[in-house]
Amino acid sequence: MTANEYIKVRFGRHMDQCTNEEIYIGLLEYVKDKAKDREIKGGKKKLYYISAEFLIGKLLSNNLINLGLYDEVKAELEACGKSLAEIEEIEVEPSLGNGGLGRLAACFLDSIATLGLNGDGVGLAYHMGLFKQVFENNLQNEVPNPWMSEHSWMTKTDKTYKVDFGGFNVQSRMYDIDVTGYDSVSTKLHLFDVETVDESIIKDGINFDKGEFTKNLTLFLYPDDSDDNGRLLRVYQQYFMVSNAAQLILDEAVEKGSNLYDLADYAVIQINDTHPSMVIPELIRLLQIRGLTMDEAIDVVSKCTAYTNHTILAEALEKWPIHFMMKAVPQLMPIIRELHNRIAKKVSDPDVAIIKDDLVHMAHMDIHYGISINGVAALHTEILKETELNKFYKLYPEKFNNKTNGITFRRWLLYCNPELAKLIEELIGPGFKKDATELKKLEQFMNDDAVVQKFLDVKNTRKTVLKNYLAKTQGIEIDDNSVYDIQIKRLHEYKRQQMNALYVINKYFEIKEGKKPARPITVIFGAKAAPAYVIAKDIIHLILCLQEIIAKDPEVSPYLKVVMVENYNVTLAEKLIPACDIHEQISLASKEASGTSNMKFMLNGAVAIGTMDGANVEMHDFVGDDNIYIFGEDSDTVIKRYADASYVSRDYYEKDANLKKCVDFIVSDKLMEVGQKENLERLYNELLNKDWFMTFPDFKDYCETKEKAYKEFENRTEWGRKMIKNIANAGFFSSDRTIAQYNEDIWKL
Ligand SMILES: *Cc1c(COP(=O)(O)O)cnc(C)c1O
Repeated sequence: MTANEYIKVRFGRHMDQCTNEEIYIGLLEYVKDKAKDREIKGGKKKLYYISAEFLIGKLLSNNLINLGLYDEVKAELEACGKSLAEIEEIEVEPSLGNGGLGRLAACFLDSIATLGLNGDGVGLAYHMGLFKQVFENNLQNEVPNPWMSEHSWMTKTDKTYKVDFGGFNVQSRMYDIDVTGYDSVSTKLHLFDVETVDESIIKDGINFDKGEFTKNLTLFLYPDDSDDNGRLLRVYQQYFMVSNAAQLILDEAVEKGSNLYDLADYAVIQINDTHPSMVIPELIRLLQIRGLTMDEAIDVVSKCTAYTNHTILAEALEKWPIHFMMKAVPQLMPIIRELHNRIAKKVSDPDVAIIKDDLVHMAHMDIHYGISINGVAALHTEILKETELNKFYKLYPEKFNNKTNGITFRRWLLYCNPELAKLIEELIGPGFKKDATELKKLEQFMNDDAVVQKFLDVKNTRKTVLKNYLAKTQGIEIDDNSVYDIQIKRLHEYKRQQMNALYVINKYFEIKEGKKPARPITVIFGAKAAPAYVIAKDIIHLILCLQEIIAKDPEVSPYLKVVMVENYNVTLAEKLIPACDIHEQISLASKEASGTSNMKFMLNGAVAIGTMDGANVEMHDFVGDDNIYIFGEDSDTVIKRYADASYVSRDYYEKDANLKKCVDFIVSDKLMEVGQKENLERLYNELLNKDWFMTFPDFKDYCETKEKAYKEFENRTEWGRKMIKNIANAGFFSSDRTIAQYNEDIWKL
């Protein structure tokens, strides 16, 4: 049955007689039906990818592509005067993730299904997801982000579990989303919800009664944790997630014939960051209930779990106070103490203890009791081994391994940039769609000026698409003849949006002084700040103020435009990335574990300005000095600076007159006219007295490197060659490669 016929049966009318909403609902159900017919990958051993986040993005087009229905449905729509793009606008993006970690989980599910591996995702069905960002008075405000509706990709299942907390219990329910592999089989994303959740307790933005755990358990992803109740809620959420996962895992294993002693033959669990760490003691507890001794249960579970570390920022390695655990999940504490005691007996060093200073170190538990610990880029894994987790590396060198992140090329090329995909296919055939390394064949065209021009033309097309999209959706006007310089990622001081903002100030002064750029520059930011992260919100404030000042200044605005897009999410990323000329990957070296937006941009023919950090290092290895703009101090220097506490930001400020001028502008009268004194002064003082992520030492090099990039951008043909070099070498960064390596080294499915 075609989509049109399906819709006719469903609504009793031909597609051209239906509203866009009806067509969307019809297509959603059509695709869900088609996905149901797909083979579900079976098999004895199964991977459970447990993650607090799955930033899956809209699913309609992605599923159509993966099911091979895209062209057909597009044509059917066009035949009755509709476009898929307008139907897609009806779909609400599920806000089940926060940033790179959640998007990684989504890319991984796509690759697991595409490679035909037997693996499911397990997470939570947050009703409001992550907050929605709105700008008011140049400040970030947070409002709920409801995304569930009657017609949704989630399918209610009849699986429910009882989850016990200290003093009460809840009944869960599992919902499934089909994950359709590209021209392959399907797997599932299991999302657990609690039946007693109550959206009506949300008051005034994203505030709610944090103490009402039965009502708030699955309301929000990452509820504000600046107070004890907020932190406690995160423990409740995490346990709810892993208790459901553990019950599901044991049920499925037993159903397939496991006697539980052989659980490792039936299940392998990837713990995505530390949020799911409690799955270890929970599985041990459930196995004891099912008749195993503590010894046996620990032995069994120790063969089943693997942990992925995503950060070396110490504050992000979760540690929960024992009194929280005693309140929320008292049944786990005797097991965690036992796990702790066994290690303490063997290793006396308190730095590797599971319990220290009345805190439970989740990552330590993962490392001692798992089969694998991996970092997410080569440099990151080296830093884990040599510094952050060195003591663990010495204990278990064989457990440490690297899995450089990747992205799914289905979403980040075929779907989001069909013009580029078509051009590539014309040049090298369709093989790259299944084997990303075939992109390498594009290098043979780098000296063919006519082909180079085609890549430049595609970029120009996409720049116009973005221009029109921003005008329509956000009321923002940009010049598609300008160079698009884009930094989109969560707002964090280590990612150094503040350095990019200082560059904007620098450029503003240059233009004021008569030094005009060869071509107008459009600097685009997109970033949400965590609601309780004060300085991050101050940085957003600064950027929004700069946007306003520059837009209103007739001397500057013809040459420089600052745009901060509202509520940056996957849908926006899909529009911004294909249109980008230059992307900013300017984290302080050693701090960005991998980055994945860098890979998406590379694949779409943008050139990076970046530090030697995360996966930028590997990108540089592939494309060489001429095709990526590297600047700034390296990770060894930075790590040394932290170790000897030698960095004093004020020294740089006082020695570099240009830097001083830019920093002082933050608290100038000009900014105070459009901004808030309190926020701007706080940010100014932070930079001057602390600058914990060392923007000042890199500032001069950063400015010079950007000038170089803008200058080279003007040699259009040479720039086109750089674009091709980047695209041709992006193959390594396919999540298909990453997942194949996980399977080969860790999961062994
Ligand atoms: C890829 C992606 C990220 C990760 O970006 P980084 O620059 O690697 O931090 C975050 N958010 C969204 C919506 C993404 O698509």
